[in-house]
Amino acid sequence: MKAKYVYFFGGGKADGNESMKNLLGGKGANLAEMAGHKDLLLPVPPGFTITTEVCDYYYKNSKAYPKGLEEEVKESLQKVEALMGKKFGDPNNPLLISVRSGARRSMPGMMETILNIGLTTKTIPGLIKLTGNPRFVYDAYRRLIMMYSDVVMEKTAGIEPKDDQSGIRKQLERIMDKVKKEKNYSSDTDLTADDLKKLCGLFKAKVKEVLKKDFPDDPMQQLWGGIGAVFASWNGKRAVSYRRIEKIPDEWGTAVNVQAMIFGNMGSDSATGVAFTRNPGNGENQFYGEYLINAQGEDVVAGIRTPAPINEYSKSGHNKNLVSLEKAMPKLYKELFDYRNKLEKHYRDIQDIEFTIEKGRLFMLQCRVGKRNGPAAVHIAVDMVKEKLITREEAVMRVTPSQLEELLHPIIDPEVEIDTKPLAKGLPAGPGGASGQIIFTAKDAVEWKKQGKKIILVREETNPEDVEGMRAAEAILTARGGMTSHAALVARGWGKCCIVGCGDIRIEYSKKEIHAGEKILKEGDWITLNGTKGLVYEGKLPMMDSQEENKILGEFLRICDSIKKLGVRTNADTPEDARRAKKFGAEGIGLFRTEHMFYGKGSDEPLFLLRKMIVSKTQRERKKALDELFPFVKKDVKATLETMDGLPVTIRLLDPPLHEFVPKEPEKLKQLAKELKITLEDLSKHTESLKESNPMMGHRGVRLGITYPEVSEMQIRAILEAAAELAKQGKKPLPEIMVPVVCDLKELENQMEITKKVYKEVLQKNSLKEIKYTFGTMIEIPRAVFVADRLAQVAEFFSYGTNDMTQMGFGFSRDDVGAFMPDYINKGILPDDPFQTIDKDGIGEIIKIGIERGRKGRKDLKVGICGEHGGEPRSVEFCHKVGMDYVSCSPFRVPIAKLAAAQAAVKEGQS
Ligand code: PEP
Ligand code: MG
Repeated sequence: MKAKYVYFFGGGKADGNESMKNLLGGKGANLAEMAGHKDLLLPVPPGFTITTEVCDYYYKNSKAYPKGLEEEVKESLQKVEALMGKKFGDPNNPLLISVRSGARRSMPGMMETILNIGLTTKTIPGLIKLTGNPRFVYDAYRRLIMMYSDVVMEKTAGIEPKDDQSGIRKQLERIMDKVKKEKNYSSDTDLTADDLKKLCGLFKAKVKEVLKKDFPDDPMQQLWGGIGAVFASWNGKRAVSYRRIEKIPDEWGTAVNVQAMIFGNMGSDSATGVAFTRNPGNGENQFYGEYLINAQGEDVVAGIRTPAPINEYSKSGHNKNLVSLEKAMPKLYKELFDYRNKLEKHYRDIQDIEFTIEKGRLFMLQCRVGKRNGPAAVHIAVDMVKEKLITREEAVMRVTPSQLEELLHPIIDPEVEIDTKPLAKGLPAGPGGASGQIIFTAKDAVEWKKQGKKIILVREETNPEDVEGMRAAEAILTARGGMTSHAALVARGWGKCCIVGCGDIRIEYSKKEIHAGEKILKEGDWITLNGTKGLVYEGKLPMMDSQEENKILGEFLRICDSIKKLGVRTNADTPEDARRAKKFGAEGIGLFRTEHMFYGKGSDEPLFLLRKMIVSKTQRERKKALDELFPFVKKDVKATLETMDGLPVTIRLLDPPLHEFVPKEPEKLKQLAKELKITLEDLSKHTESLKESNPMMGHRGVRLGITYPEVSEMQIRAILEAAAELAKQGKKPLPEIMVPVVCDLKELENQMEITKKVYKEVLQKNSLKEIKYTFGTMIEIPRAVFVADRLAQVAEFFSYGTNDMTQMGFGFSRDDVGAFMPDYINKGILPDDPFQTIDKDGIGEIIKIGIERGRKGRKDLKVGICGEHGGEPRSVEFCHKVGMDYVSCSPFRVPIAKLAAAQAAVKEGQS
């Protein structure tokens, strides 16, 4: 079969469709879908897509095209001509076309576009006659010269301007500014037809002078120049750096879309705009967009004129006095609104659309899945389930863990913010709060970030060249541009805090200053942004975590709950933590580290008593100290059990080596000796004997419980008595006693004996027949895995301590990583931080073996994880796959773990 390089669309038909994104690029596939799908049949200007395979061929064959391409392009062009009733290059009735890029995944602004191709000295008079609008024609021509000379004749030809002021485009812009100045014009629209005609002459002369070539006057030459420029721009600097950030493979290539030009700048009955089928900033189910009367596409995005809102809903502070499309052109707005509904129903997702109105006729130029921030993603997913547009499983897959994280991102402490007067107000383009030092160029942003500084990139407006600097910044602030400007689009995609169109500030690049009213801020000064409201503050305001109370987040998490199979618990050491985690929907506590109760509490007494116990010389002394400590431990455990009433709480017996509890500073040691009524020498000697040179190992955890059984006994008694007392009050405490750092069955049996003995005593004391509890162990030492079947004879549950397990598994610690990792990565020994996730070979394999062996020893063994990885999405998916019962993570990771668990379940169902 003959290879097909060109796919036509238009006139209610299309060769391609939405499923062909790999071949036609996202834009081409969607144009075909809009034009040709029976449920849509939208008014798309006719055109054709040259496939990504041609791009591949072009790069593999020294920038040559495959045989037959030229013929196919010609044929398709003829079809476009027939549908438009115009001819490309015809002096009397000329067709103009656009040439645009379109990769599989959208890369906004990263590649080239050329408009108005087909304008030549021959076609200009014809078009003037046809339109009766010489101003429009010369304006289109001067745009063509500017774009084409820059993109095709300079960039694609590989001509490197001396500096960023001497590129051809800049030179032409200066000519235009000069003409405007001479005539005392303030805006481009003041230029008359004659001015523009003259300007085109000046432009062509300049092009010849600078680039030593005539501006091409042959339409076909222009077309092929444009096609080549698009293919070449796939490997342009901007595109390559964007691909690196977004992890888009180089070999995908771009398609080229050639399409009949539609003009939004043909007078007051023409317009152009961009819109989202829902609000991409917060997800509300409201049509949202901007438009400009008498303008061409890029005018809306470039931020040169302030676009007007398409409807009342889209109004905001900066555009509230402009007339909406709904008011200005009600019939066309209604038509557009109809298309909006059709598109949403068809694609079942928010769409980002571009449209143009030419002399009262509406055309759809583009549609693609709309980028949205985290809050919007969650809102849209929840709404679309309610609207029965998507299933709950689809909803879960529509939100990424990092988008969810945005909701949990810091915001400015509301109590401080309410009392702080904003310096300026702009458009809220990316949510959350951020503070940083002001920086004015993308290059400096990257540099400062490398030095470990927090920066906010402040620009008049951003363009694709700024991407790396934008990435490096905590937040982005632009003085110009709307909600669909480059900065807004990019920030939204990344979920970065961003404010655009902040007209209240004036930037003086040369002095590196921002002027806001009377105030002058300089490079390096701190500012704080509220990207959710669009407010800019001077200085560094305090931040806090947000959205715990968000109702929609709650609904979304309930959807996740209904799908996921893994339980999600939290690590919590205090009743306050437990309460917070419960709000997030934690289904229990997977790790309550008892030792933490000795720190950070109102009273120093428990810590003092613990130290007293530690330095006791005899068992009697130690028992006495433990008796004094007992009520504190019981109270703490009881409060947490009570908070989590009805939910399991895994309480771990004392874990760290005891020397960690004794102060290191001589002053404090002296004071402690005094308080304990022992000599400093005695105290030092004792602490020294407890010291572990490798605190990850040795005399800690279960081993302390074996050498000092009375320590375990006190804790177990506190746990069981707390439970007994709560049970007597009609509560449902579910304590799980967990023994840490175990590597042998005998260790576990030893602690089990203590537990049984204490259990009996507590039953008796409380006249109870039963207290519900379970007994289990942490699996964090590799050896434990290999004896897991035996451990499971005693342990009713395992909880993987991957913090220790990863370190012991690799044989180096997290601190080591910081020290030698860069060298390791450089030498290609490890690709990245090995502690990030457990889903790779190695630690994951050890975990799997432990689960298999453990369940051989006890069929209904409950298995969970309580290391940091319990809140890391890839690790959570791994835990799901290997059949764990639950993951446990810090309170703020609970929603993320729930989402990751639900996604793992959906993926499993799909495979
Ligand atoms: C672990 O080792 O994973 C664990 C949870 O224990 P800790 O972090 O307290 O050592
Ligand atoms: Mg541990």
